[in-house]
Amino acid sequence: MASLTGVDLLEYQGKQLFARHGVPVPSGAHATTVEGAVAAADELGYPCVIKAQVQIGGRGKAGGIKLAGNRREAEEHARAILGMDIRGFTVHEVWVEQASQIDAEYYASIVFDRSARRPLVMLSTKGGMDIEAVAEEDPDAIARLHIDPLLGFQDFHARRLAFDAGVDGDVIRPVGALLNRLYDAFVAEEAMLVEVNPMIVTPADGSGRRGVAALDAKVTLDDNSLFRHAENAELRNPSAEDPQERMAKERGLTYVKLDGDIGILGNGAGLVMSTLDVVAQAGGRPANFLDAGGGSRAEAITSAVEVILANQNVKAVLFNIFGGITRCDEVSRGLIEAFGQMDVKVPFVVRLDGTNDEAGRELLEEAGLPNVHVESTMLDAAARVVELAE
Ligand code: GDP
Ligand code: MN
Repeated sequence: MASLTGVDLLEYQGKQLFARHGVPVPSGAHATTVEGAVAAADELGYPCVIKAQVQIGGRGKAGGIKLAGNRREAEEHARAILGMDIRGFTVHEVWVEQASQIDAEYYASIVFDRSARRPLVMLSTKGGMDIEAVAEEDPDAIARLHIDPLLGFQDFHARRLAFDAGVDGDVIRPVGALLNRLYDAFVAEEAMLVEVNPMIVTPADGSGRRGVAALDAKVTLDDNSLFRHAENAELRNPSAEDPQERMAKERGLTYVKLDGDIGILGNGAGLVMSTLDVVAQAGGRPANFLDAGGGSRAEAITSAVEVILANQNVKAVLFNIFGGITRCDEVSRGLIEAFGQMDVKVPFVVRLDGTNDEAGRELLEEAGLPNVHVESTMLDAAARVVELAE
């Protein structure tokens, strides 16, 4: 299920975001066709790496990341990777990147730790494809440090993490600098997560110094802050979202798909939550959370019905409206409109209470919609909808 508040970026989008904040990343180019990938590879030079861009980890193990030593290999790999299925995700785009030399693979991430109300920075020298196993079997191999947001990320934080993680002495500075930039990116872009796995240590260059770079990028942005970041709002990847969730977002509704068969609509998050609870108590399984919001107009209700019914699992729908700013007669108008536009086959149970509830019920009665049942209490409505869904 796509999260209510997070937008997951593809690796290359994350790397482009990192680059804006000075986090070192290899150069690369994006492509959606074999020809495009080969042209990008020619441009970048060989050896290069062709990387599947899908919103799921473990691409390396699934064969979605391949090294190409020449044009023929680039073409072969691009052909194999584009269209490939990686754990249920079809690859539609690749990122072609200059190959990196790797001395060591570290791990770094920053998440917002809600319980501590602070960002939590993690660092390990055991990065790479098996970090989950490391976290499970050897949790001490991952150094952790909460950062006071008012103080920000300081050099001593970097030294403490590097020391705890056992980072090689010669790369403590570049690792610290990368973490510092990563923290800037995390804060400035209002991310919920930034993860670099692997953060690679590159072999000594001409001057004998080893460096570090982000070889992979996982970034989750806070949906609720996207309006402050016009350039990030474009990064949402529609194909990764559930179609009903996407539809709801486009219509400005707060919707989360669940796995039951009773469609739910309410106005106000609190009311929708308690409606879910009451339906569950009555023995039913909600198919979604849908908050039509305060002051819901008829059009919003019509849209909401469309979104709810787009989920094929829905066998019955419960409307639970508490009229305050929202007028119950508007809700009825929206419902009648929806029935006029769509061929509604499932039963609806409607409970209207508060502003203009009487008028709302009269409208429904006059419209004589088939299969619409009016109940006057939340409990009765829940019991009825569960019965109708069976
Ligand atoms: P993930 O499997 O989806 O997490 O994809 P990553 O981007 O983390 O890549 C997986 C692994 O592929 C890395 O841990 C590296 O070992 C390897 N890899 C990726 N890019 C390169 C590269 O440029 N050069 C080399 N030698 N290996 C790479
Ligand atoms: Mn990775």
